[in-house]
Amino acid sequence: MTPDRAAGGPAHDCALCPRLAGFRTDNRTAFPAYFNAPVPSFGAPEPWLLVVGLAPGLHGANRTGRPFTGDYAGDLLYETLSAFGLARGAYGRAPDDGLELSGCRIANAVRCVPPENKPTPAEAKTCLPFLTAEIAETPSLRALLALGAIAHNAVLSALERRKAAFPFAHGAVHELGGLTLFDSYHCSRYNTNTRRLTPEMFRAVFAQAVTLRP
Ligand code: SF4
Repeated sequence: MTPDRAAGGPAHDCALCPRLAGFRTDNRTAFPAYFNAPVPSFGAPEPWLLVVGLAPGLHGANRTGRPFTGDYAGDLLYETLSAFGLARGAYGRAPDDGLELSGCRIANAVRCVPPENKPTPAEAKTCLPFLTAEIAETPSLRALLALGAIAHNAVLSALERRKAAFPFAHGAVHELGGLTLFDSYHCSRYNTNTRRLTPEMFRAVFAQAVTLRP
């Protein structure tokens, strides 16, 4: 069993970010069959690795209710997790596909879908306590893998580290006092279509991270 992590996360109707709460309301009208709520983290209850994404995609996680599930970014992420033994079962682009994560959990820095995939700095800051609490409540963690600069900065803020001391760069590895942070470009369709991020580059980051697997 690989439970979602809903406990301690935001309320289903969290309205701390007025713009995102309004967007969610609009989407409940436009797409009534979608999940349309803060998307809970997904994965192992005692992970050693936390993958931190940006925010739910409108027609991906915001639709299905599971991070990275149902859109292009999830295809590459779950394929890569499977290749490194961090996921078991077949990824079926749906939350009832039976996929389980092994030693790994996926969270988002911002838990609600933002318009055009762009949360504001204020929204990232407002949602930060949920990531901070999740990290603090997961003593099994050894490593975090940030997908993109916003996720990277959220991890640094959650761990109260200075951003200037740990700049984001694809492939960078940061030692954060008992936790290691690995950086990757986000596995978005845009980044892969433009070859900013290739599957090989993505796998290379995970290859480094799994050296810390207990
Ligand atoms: S992004 Fe986070 S803080 Fe903002 S409304 Fe959603 S759950 Fe609440």
